[in-house]
Amino acid sequence: MKMINSDNFINGQWVKGNGEVRKIHSPHNGEVIGEVSFPDDDQIHQAIELAQKAQVLWGQKTHKQRAQLLFQVRTALLDNFDLISQVKSSESGKTLAEGKAGLAKGIEVLEFALSLQNLDSGSKMQVSQGVNCEYRREALGVVASITPFNFPAMVPLWTIPISLALGNAMVWKPSEKTPLTAQLIADAFKQAGLPAGLLTVLHGQEQTVQKIIENPHVKAVSFVGSTNIARKIYHMASLQDKRVLALGGAKNPIILLPDHNLELTAQAITDSFTGCAGQRCMAASLLLNVGQNQKTIQEIKACAQKIQLAEQMGAIISSEQLNFLQKAIDQAVAEGAELLLDGREAKAPKGMEKGNWIGPTILNKVNPASHAATTELFGPILSIIDCPDLSSALQIENNIPYGNACSVFTSNGAMAEKVAQNAKAGMVGVNVGVPVPREPFSFAGIADSKFGHGEITGEQSLDFWSNTKKVTTKWEKQTQSDWMS
Ligand code: NAD
Repeated sequence: MKMINSDNFINGQWVKGNGEVRKIHSPHNGEVIGEVSFPDDDQIHQAIELAQKAQVLWGQKTHKQRAQLLFQVRTALLDNFDLISQVKSSESGKTLAEGKAGLAKGIEVLEFALSLQNLDSGSKMQVSQGVNCEYRREALGVVASITPFNFPAMVPLWTIPISLALGNAMVWKPSEKTPLTAQLIADAFKQAGLPAGLLTVLHGQEQTVQKIIENPHVKAVSFVGSTNIARKIYHMASLQDKRVLALGGAKNPIILLPDHNLELTAQAITDSFTGCAGQRCMAASLLLNVGQNQKTIQEIKACAQKIQLAEQMGAIISSEQLNFLQKAIDQAVAEGAELLLDGREAKAPKGMEKGNWIGPTILNKVNPASHAATTELFGPILSIIDCPDLSSALQIENNIPYGNACSVFTSNGAMAEKVAQNAKAGMVGVNVGVPVPREPFSFAGIADSKFGHGEITGEQSLDFWSNTKKVTTKWEKQTQSDWMS
C-alpha cells in the first residue's frame, strides 16, 4: 500500500502540524503505512476561527442547497470506496470486508442526512385568531466530533453529514490510531466541492480535544470512545456550557434461552463476538446461558474454530491491547473459568507474523463477579455464565454498569418481550447478534454507555445538531380577541 501522510485539514488545505509526528503501523503486519502530524495550539485556534467564518454563509443556505453539495460527497465517497476501505482496514486491523461494511453504513447515514431536505419541513399552526406559531431550525455554528479507532469511517459519517446538512461547520478530531482514513474522507469532501472551512480535521489526543472543547466558537461536542474518556469529555464540555453527547464503551450480553432456533443462533453469536475481532461496541462479550444449551455452545465453538485469521477475522489494534487480552485470559482461568477455546494458540497468518493476532476465545463457567465478566475486554473473547432462569440472567444484565446492547435468542415472543422491556440497554436484539439500528433509527446506549441527552444519529439527532426557534406571528388586528391576540 502507498504510504499516506495525514496532515490537518484547515480551511480546505492540508497543513502539516507543528506538533508531534507519529508513524502509523498496520496491526496486520506491523509495517509503517503512513504518518500523522499533530497541530499546535495556534493552529487549532486558527483553524476554528476559519471554520467559524465559513459557517456564516453555509448557515444561510437553504437545506436543499446544502443537500446538493452533500450529494456530491456521496458520489466522491463511492468513487473512492475501495481505496478508503483498504486503507481503513490496513490501519485499524479489520478485514477488507469489514472495512467495506463500515464505510457502507457510514454512507447510509449520509443518505439519511440528504433526506432531511424533505423530511425536516418544520411545522406551523394557527394557535389563536390571526396568530401563527412556527418552528424554525437553525444551525448551532461550529460543532465538534471526536471519534474512536474502531470505526474510522462509519462513526465520523454518523456526525459530519447530519451536522453539515443542518448548516453547521464541523471540526473533526479522528483517533490518533487511525488518521489515514480521515485524510481520505476529508479528501472526498474536498473533491465534492465543499466550501473551505466547513470541514476541519485536527489530529492529536487529549491536548487537541481540550483546545477544541475550550474554544468559544465550538457550540456542541459529540464524542464516541471508551467510557472513562466519554465521562470526562461530558463533564469537561458541560462545565463550559457546551451541548455534549458522549457515547462510551460496552459489555454486551446475549441471553440464550433453551427454546432458541439453532439455525438462527450459533453462527449469529459467533459473528457477534468475533466480528471486527471483538473490537466494536456492539460485540457480544457475555453469553448468559439459561438452561441446557450444550449442543449450541459446542456449535458456537465449532463455528469459531473455522475462522481463518486475516480472512474472516482481523487483527488487534496494538501490541499493548493484544498483551492485555492475553493476560485477561490468564486472569479468567485463575478466577475459575474453563478455557473452551484458547485464541492464543492461533498462529499469525503467513507473512503477517509481526501483526497483533489472537484467535476467538471462549471461556466457560465464568463467575459473574470476575474480571472477564465485568470489564470491557475489546477482543474476540466470549465469556459464558450459567444462569438458572431468565430472571437471574436479567439480573446479571441489569447489574452491568454499561447499557449499550443486549440480545435474546428464543422462539418465544413473550420471553423476547420480557427481555425487551427489562434489559438495561439502549439497543435490544431478538434473534439478532448485533442489534445495530439502521437509519432513521438512532444509535446509542444508555447508562455508562452514553453521557448526555438526545441522540447523535437518526431523527432525534436533529435536536442535538441544531436549535429550534419558535416564531409567533400576527399581521392584523383581530375583532375577536382573547388572551393570546
Ligand atoms: P478512546 O476513548 O481511547 O479514544 C476515543 C477518542 O478520544 C480518540 O479520538 C482519542 O484520541 C481521544 N482521547 C483519548 N484519550 C483522551 C483524553 N484523555 N482526553 C480527551 N480525548 C482523548 O477509544 P478507542 O480505543 O479509540 O475506541 C474504543 C472504545 O470506543 C471502546 O470502549 C468502544 O466500546 C467505544 N466505542 C463506543 C461506541 C458507541 O457508539 N458507544 C462506538 C465505537 C466505539
